[in-house]
Amino acid sequence: NLSDKLDRAFKVLKGQGTITEINVAETMKEIRKALLDADVNYKTAKSFTDDVKQKALGANVLTAVSPGQLLTKLMNDELAALMGGTTSELTLTASPTVILIAGLNGAGKTTFTGKLANFLKTQKNKKPLLVADDIYRPAAIDQLEVLGEQIGVPVYTNRESKDPIAIAKEGIAHAKQNGNNIVIIDTAGRLAIDEAMMVEIEQVKAAVNPHEILFVVDSMTGQDAVNTAKVFNDRLDFTGVVLTKLDGDTRGGAALSIKSVVNKPIKFIGTGEKMEAIDVFHPDRMASRILGMGDVVSLVERAQMQFDEKEAAELQKKIRKNKFDFNDFFNQIQQIKKMGNMKDLMGMIPGVGKMMKDVDVPDDAFKGIEAIINSMTPAEKENPDLINPSRRNRISKGSGRDIQEVNRLIKQFEDMRKVMKQMSNPAAMAAMMKRMP
Ligand code: GDP
Ligand code: MG
Repeated sequence: NLSDKLDRAFKVLKGQGTITEINVAETMKEIRKALLDADVNYKTAKSFTDDVKQKALGANVLTAVSPGQLLTKLMNDELAALMGGTTSELTLTASPTVILIAGLNGAGKTTFTGKLANFLKTQKNKKPLLVADDIYRPAAIDQLEVLGEQIGVPVYTNRESKDPIAIAKEGIAHAKQNGNNIVIIDTAGRLAIDEAMMVEIEQVKAAVNPHEILFVVDSMTGQDAVNTAKVFNDRLDFTGVVLTKLDGDTRGGAALSIKSVVNKPIKFIGTGEKMEAIDVFHPDRMASRILGMGDVVSLVERAQMQFDEKEAAELQKKIRKNKFDFNDFFNQIQQIKKMGNMKDLMGMIPGVGKMMKDVDVPDDAFKGIEAIINSMTPAEKENPDLINPSRRNRISKGSGRDIQEVNRLIKQFEDMRKVMKQMSNPAAMAAMMKRMP
């Protein structure tokens, strides 16, 4: 693990007041080893450590900053620069903007196609159309349709056709007719060595002249990812890279090497299987992540993205009037679930990523609660005070959960409501604070 190795490398410097030729050289040797282990290619790793060393030796060591901290900062900046320095956005000016998705089998193309459409729809106010251009497996078309349904984005398919070039063109015509200003074409996976398939995607490119060609690559495939990127770039001259499966524990090495080998920006990362598990690629955050600091900023952004301000104000009002009910409670749970699975989320917290590797967080942590709430009548959900013992029995039977579990949930809900009510009342809040020791 890269961050363990870096921890060790920094220990070499710990307690030393100044950066000298000797301690820097030793640390850089460790760091170079760590980078090589994380699939950064030798040339990149060597020039990186040489650069950092030069800068470190030239830097004024402020008394407030330890050499370790200074080096971390230098490395962070240098890594970010290596990965492109700044965030690289999609060019979305044309209408429709055509985006072609390419990559190997299983890289995460279809999943990303859905995530990108969802992102453009919810974050950029676009009206995307998906085109199912993977005609070799009927299941691939089904998969895209399911995702489209889930995110509320239309999918163009032509199950009769065996001609991906024609389907791509039909899809664009369909978008023009229906006012879709983005077309995302999901293609079949291909092995880089499969000449016929490589020719096919070149032909699709020539036929539709896409504004963006995104090469999707599984970040867990390490050095292979770099080789594949090179082959695809030679054939397609893509406009950007998507690194998938960067959940939790990272192998950031691929990000570094791909950028240095093909010199194309990484535009997005995939951090889970859900439709919301997509992040714009930020070189500086990725650098911190490679250095083991976790991607806190992305985590916060994702939380904000799910948090609808109007809804929140509405909720505030209900709480103040003590009208917070089981419907609201249920909605809150859905909000939490939308943020991704618990393991994905926790993996992004610094230090937790490592721990989470062996821990099993049930994705269905809310299943019991949901079942119980679903077994309530609309009147009960709106007015929990109605729920007397006989109703509790009925809910328990209906949901298949123990009566104790039902009682516990209702008790917890009532307690929560009380606290919420107090917190929303400034006077009560002040009184509560006074009572605190
Ligand atoms: P395709 O063959 O390139 O279209 O790949 P798919 O989109 O069908 O994805 C292959 C598998 O990888 C599926 O099981 C996805 O759920 C999974 N997958 C895709 N992206 C991610 C990601 O960012 N994180 C994780 N953990 N799994 C992913
Ligand atoms: Mg696919």
